[in-house]
Amino acid sequence: MENTTAFLSSEQSVDEGSALPTSSDIYLSVVVPLYNEESNVQPLLVQLENTLHNLGVSYEIILVDDGSRDRTWHMISDCSSSMPAVRGVKLVRNFGHQHALLAGLASARGQAIVSMDGDLQHPPALIQEMLAQYQKGYLVVNTCRHDRETVSAFKRISSSSFYKVFSFLSDVPMEAGASDFRLMDRSVLKHILAIQDVDIFIRGTIEWLGFSCVTIPYNAGKRFSGKTKYNLLKMFRFAGGSIISFSTKPLIIGVWIGLLTSSLAFLEIIYILFQYANGRTVPGWASTVGVISFLFGILFVILGIIGAYLSRIHLALQNRPKFIVESSVERKTE
Ligand code: UDP
Ligand code: MG
Repeated sequence: MENTTAFLSSEQSVDEGSALPTSSDIYLSVVVPLYNEESNVQPLLVQLENTLHNLGVSYEIILVDDGSRDRTWHMISDCSSSMPAVRGVKLVRNFGHQHALLAGLASARGQAIVSMDGDLQHPPALIQEMLAQYQKGYLVVNTCRHDRETVSAFKRISSSSFYKVFSFLSDVPMEAGASDFRLMDRSVLKHILAIQDVDIFIRGTIEWLGFSCVTIPYNAGKRFSGKTKYNLLKMFRFAGGSIISFSTKPLIIGVWIGLLTSSLAFLEIIYILFQYANGRTVPGWASTVGVISFLFGILFVILGIIGAYLSRIHLALQNRPKFIVESSVERKTE
């Protein structure tokens, strides 16, 4: 049944904190954000159903259409009319992977919630092992990608460098190969939804929360169809946003860079005075211009870092919703 009146902001979902949608008869929710993934919807659902059907628990699959411009929503609506476990949530526009995932998490009703990508790089079959670990008592079951063959060298190197820098700056330890393929208990979800970060970085937030967790390695497959939605610019934005929301160290590093460059400039002044006292004029203006440009460069970098933090405060004050749901679909159970 299509419901076009739903208008759910992140704020509302957070306000609903203690009254999150729950249904005692749903044990497991699987949440998948999708952006222009029309040809992945059906194969994903086939694999998910194969796995979930054999687990012997009640489940739901929540597919979030993050403002796709292809037929993704059409595919979701189609599938939800024939598969009772499938629910579709359509966002009014593209809000980005993390916010689309948040929209799905906010409407999950299960006791345990799995989040995963929709391009089959996260193998649905692993959910069985994740659930087994959850039933041993872990509140978070993380996964770690082992992907020498299927993921490009560039992606591997950029991802591991990012996690090293992130861990250093934020003091939140994160392993290379981490992603949003994970299972979490409802009690953990409650905290995720209550966090008001402007640029939420869900995998970092989970680490930061510090619930008991275990990590399962897996081999990432190739994308089943379509192209990655993370180009270089988006990756940089994502990395920058995540670091800024978890760490203020860049501001402090700015102070150290400022101190270092001022010390160098001070040494240069002593050198100039020494040369002058010995009757030697300082040769050329190039060195002067060089030093000035260098110092100005540093100054602008530091100003930029301050600006980045300031923009977060601005966005936080605006407090706009992180996502807006346009409509949702699910098959009515008689
Ligand atoms: N995605 C999304 N909104 C976006 C970008 C991506 O919902 O703005 C979804 C995408 O459809 C996929 C998941 O997030 O299900 C991961 O994206 P992708 O596979 O492009 O990332 P990669 O695996 O290349 O890091
Ligand atoms: Mg992918």
